[in-house]
Amino acid sequence: MSGKPRSKRGRFVSKKKAERVKKAVENSVAARKSKTNKSTRQESDDEGNHIVNLKSMGQALHCCACKEVLSLDNINNEVRKGLFSILHIKCHKCGIQNEVNTGKKVDLDGHCYTNVNLQAVLGAMHSGLGCTGLNKILACLNIPVIITMDMFKRYERKVGL
Ligand SMILES: [Zn+2]
Repeated sequence: MSGKPRSKRGRFVSKKKAERVKKAVENSVAARKSKTNKSTRQESDDEGNHIVNLKSMGQALHCCACKEVLSLDNINNEVRKGLFSILHIKCHKCGIQNEVNTGKKVDLDGHCYTNVNLQAVLGAMHSGLGCTGLNKILACLNIPVIITMDMFKRYERKVGL
C-alpha cells in the first residue's frame, strides 16, 4: 500500500486537499466541543457560521416589550435546531429577554418545520449527498451543527413527496 491519502471512497486525493479537509473538520469538531462545554455566547471564542434569512430575522430584531431594535452583541444564548437557530437576546433598553428566530418556519400537516432545514435536506437529496454528505459540507463551512439521521429522515419525508 502506498502512503498517499485516500478519500473514504478509496480515490486518491492530493496531500494538500486532504490536509485542507482534515483541518476544516478539526476546526468544526473543536467548535462543537467548545459549544458543548460552554453554554453562553460570551464564553465561546467562535460560534462558527450561520445561515440566516436576513429579511425575516431583521423584522424580528425588535424588543417584544419596548420595540427597541435589538443588538446581536447582546445574544446570551442560542438554541440550534439543525441550521435554524433561536437567539436569546436581552434588550439593552428595558432588559427583557427576547427570542429571535434566524429564519422562517412552516406548518406542514400540523407539524412545525423550518425552511432552512427543508432546503438543506432537499439539496442533499437532489445532489445525492444524503445526511452524511450534508454534515461534511456543514463541517467544512464551519457551521457547528450536526443534522441527525432522525431529523434528516423527518425532513426527507416532507420534501421527498
Ligand atoms: Zn425592550
